Amino acid sequence: MYVSEEHRNILKFDIFKDHVGILNFVTTSFQPDVDYGIFNIGYSGMSDFVVNRVKLAMTFGLTPENFVFQTQAHSANYHIVTQEDAGAGFYLKQNAIQDNDILITNQPGLCLITRSADCVPVLMYAPKVKAIAAIHSGREGCRLGAAPKAAEILHTKFGASYDDILVGIGPHICKNCYTVDLECVNNYMQRKYYAPDIVGLADYGKYTIDMKKTIIGDLMHLGIPISNIEQSNLCTKHHAPSFFSARNGNSERFCAGIMLL
Ligand SMILES: [Zn+2]
Repeated sequence: MYVSEEHRNILKFDIFKDHVGILNFVTTSFQPDVDYGIFNIGYSGMSDFVVNRVKLAMTFGLTPENFVFQTQAHSANYHIVTQEDAGAGFYLKQNAIQDNDILITNQPGLCLITRSADCVPVLMYAPKVKAIAAIHSGREGCRLGAAPKAAEILHTKFGASYDDILVGIGPHICKNCYTVDLECVNNYMQRKYYAPDIVGLADYGKYTIDMKKTIIGDLMHLGIPISNIEQSNLCTKHHAPSFFSARNGNSERFCAGIMLL
């Protein structure tokens, strides 16, 4: 990832850099272009998220109608976004795409948003068929395979070949910081493509889960080349205060977004 040339405190994926047909970004916990004030895009938290979302829109010359938010239910449910969804959830969570963690579209002007504070934000772009996806993949989303589900939909419903899908895996809680209990480990071991190195041992009888490795393994099993996958090494927990982290007690959220121009 790199810091946007146009906007301080906005990150972009290198994997999408040569593709002028899309806008992509990941916000941080800081306001764009200035170094003061927190930048909460979530539905809760101390600051007024609507003000921040308007600022996010203005930063990229967009309007609220360009954005599509989903409720995020720790599922692998997907929604094909159309113009009917324009502006969904920008002001109110009750108007967001309900019970959903994967947004996919091939229509321009719709900025698909995934909110995070430790969970993994994943963006996808299939340049040949001009389709995009934004995925919210936390512990359950990774276990259920939300990211590979998105790639499968891009393949089956939009005609993208797997080697044409580019993937940006954004900042999230890293393996070393993400301690879980034995039940979580057992659940992960039931996964179709369980790899032993997804689980690590932490202190005091706790374990760790590598969500990024889980996603990458699933995507590679589908046939997405590793060279198509950019993986951020920024950790939301130990790179505080640059990102919000639920494990650090934050109720705020940063976001990742992608839009066809
Ligand atoms: Zn970490």
